[in-house]
Amino acid sequence: MKNYPSIIVTPPGPRALAVIEKDRAYASPSYIKEYPLVVERGEGATVVDVDGNRFLDFMTGIAVASTGHAHPKVVAAIKNAAEKFLHICATDFYYPGFADLCERLAKIGPGSDVKRVFLTNSGAEAVEGAIKLARSHTRRANLIAFEGAFHGRTMGAISLNSSKAKYRRHFGPLLSGVHHLPYANPYRPCDWKGAAEELFLQRVAPDEIAAVFIEPVLGEGGYVIPPREFLEYWRAFCDEHGALLIFDEVQSGIGRTGELFASNAFGVVPDVTLVAKGLASGMPIGAIIAKESVMSWEQGSHGSTFAGNPVCCAAALATLDLVEGELAKNATRVGEVLMGGLLELKKKHEIIGDVRGLGLMIGIEFVRDRATKAPYAELVPQLELEAFRRGLLLLGCGRSTIRLAPPLIIDEEDVAIALRILDESLEAITLAVA
Ligand code: PLP
Repeated sequence: MKNYPSIIVTPPGPRALAVIEKDRAYASPSYIKEYPLVVERGEGATVVDVDGNRFLDFMTGIAVASTGHAHPKVVAAIKNAAEKFLHICATDFYYPGFADLCERLAKIGPGSDVKRVFLTNSGAEAVEGAIKLARSHTRRANLIAFEGAFHGRTMGAISLNSSKAKYRRHFGPLLSGVHHLPYANPYRPCDWKGAAEELFLQRVAPDEIAAVFIEPVLGEGGYVIPPREFLEYWRAFCDEHGALLIFDEVQSGIGRTGELFASNAFGVVPDVTLVAKGLASGMPIGAIIAKESVMSWEQGSHGSTFAGNPVCCAAALATLDLVEGELAKNATRVGEVLMGGLLELKKKHEIIGDVRGLGLMIGIEFVRDRATKAPYAELVPQLELEAFRRGLLLLGCGRSTIRLAPPLIIDEEDVAIALRILDESLEAITLAVA
């Protein structure tokens, strides 16, 4: 029997409140702060707060702590690298860990073409670099992105975003030449093909498109699994018109879906794949993995002082050993158990409109009424809070969806705990409303 979750003081306890007070006084007001979790340390699938409460983590700091918190092999790799040197700048010089990680990602990246890798500090920086790469490679300016998409917080990335207006509000003018089209959502069908045809007939010619940016599983926009046909359509479009197909796998990549890359699950090979989040179990690193024929920009045209930091490279290599070794398979196996349990919960709770997922990237969408599918947006913060008080960490996405993105190390007992808390929390909310 697991000894968690363990709530000994109703969170936020006194120590947590003191930290929150200081943070609120000095940190930028732009941070979201979903609920009052104040972390002291993490261990495996659990997080301990500053008052001694131990939570089961089903959000992993937005799908990042892929190997669990402080995995001993990842921590050992970090310590070993940190004792050697912290920085020398890979844009200008060489070191083994950097070359090793580029080689590793180039070899495991989707598709059989020879590939090259540019390392970054974050997901948004990978997106930003990919915009530059696409424009410089194709000598075209226009970009296609999708409704519900989230690609980060930098100017290029927010120009591609379409998940929440506040990510773009007051920040314009944004990049010109970005065209948004509907994402294919099996739960909320629409004429996504017709909208694309209309765009190319009326507003921009297909041979002026530099790249199509797609999350092969929509992340922040609601954990939506598109039909394979959607990704195949855009692969065929790019082949026909000489545009680049860029898969943003910042959230879905590195084992989360049970495959190293979500694109493998669909059998659609992009020209460029972007990863970050789970790549180094929490250390800040991302990557642009591109076909060699595409990564054609000239020497000095793109670089970064910190990107591919030696400590982050070591953490990424250790993470890949674990994910490729067994964790991706575990994500498939345990993901199926979790999915089965959620489908049972759906039978019981009318407000669950849809449950969907791949591996351990699972979304539960809440609706006011199953017939109209009207989103139940207020439920998400309530459920986050109810589950938090009971010792389960969750995170919302989309308009009315909870994303389940636990560490890839979880087992059936963790699943049973999470399902029990979800059930109890939903029951408490439904009773309070009735
Ligand atoms: N792309 C996707 C699909 C993401 O989910 C995110 C972050 O949530 C990003 C890009 C941006 O990553 P970062 O926050 O590391 O800049």
